[in-house]
Amino acid sequence: MMPTTWYPVIDYSSCTECGTCIADCPHGVYDTTKAPTPVVKNPEACIDHCHGCGDRCLAGAITYVGDDTGWTPPNYTEEPSKPGYSCDGADCGGRKVLVEYLYLDLQSCDRCIGTDSVLEDVLRTLTPVLKLAGYEVEYSKVQMESAEIAKQYRFLSSPTIRVNGQDICQSVAENSCGCCSDISGTDVDCRVFEYEGGRYEVPPKEMIAEAILKAVFGQSRAAACCDAYELPENLEAFYEGKHAKAGCSCGGSCC
Ligand code: SF4
Ligand code: SF4
Repeated sequence: MMPTTWYPVIDYSSCTECGTCIADCPHGVYDTTKAPTPVVKNPEACIDHCHGCGDRCLAGAITYVGDDTGWTPPNYTEEPSKPGYSCDGADCGGRKVLVEYLYLDLQSCDRCIGTDSVLEDVLRTLTPVLKLAGYEVEYSKVQMESAEIAKQYRFLSSPTIRVNGQDICQSVAENSCGCCSDISGTDVDCRVFEYEGGRYEVPPKEMIAEAILKAVFGQSRAAACCDAYELPENLEAFYEGKHAKAGCSCGGSCC
């Protein structure tokens, strides 16, 4: 049943008062005069089923009244992260850059494996530079191993790189992926990265580096996405095919 009420609730014991939720909500739900402390002033303006501010809260301090979707606040500190990508306890002034890598398969998918490798190379180079500038980089790598996890992350296409919650690609472009088609036994499309007029199955280093630096130092901030989310049919077919191949009866929810 659809909830009749939906609005964010702040856990002030976790909130770091970064002000991101206030700045990024395009619907005036938060009281801007109280910024950076998040105060919900217009709960009725909140968009039903939007997790925009919650997805961007690095402290995982936002939940929603009426939320029956199974969504939980991202717990960024518990996601597996690579040693050396954080500022190792140095005083970073509380400024964080969250880089998320969401993928389908790192065992046999060439573009997931290739993108993973390029992203790690870029982070190895940029992390010390950002640290010098006072930013802590948090790297979270999450396998979209089931349809449930994909929905939780509002996953649109594999692989996905997000910087501070924002996809580095403006839109979804895909072509046929032989590896993921093999995994699922069905035709599956995966992401191609469009950059400077070219299309790449593995993004160039320049594209990732530019996206990270723009997210950190760029002037414009993208608004939180409040669009309704549905698992793309292409991914649904992948999960159904994968679980059918594995002989699992979960219906795509566990594998
Ligand atoms: S984004 Fe999270 S940590 Fe930042 S002000 Fe909002 S609730 Fe607090
Ligand atoms: S970003 Fe979305 S969920 Fe958060 S307060 Fe605004 S409308 Fe509501």
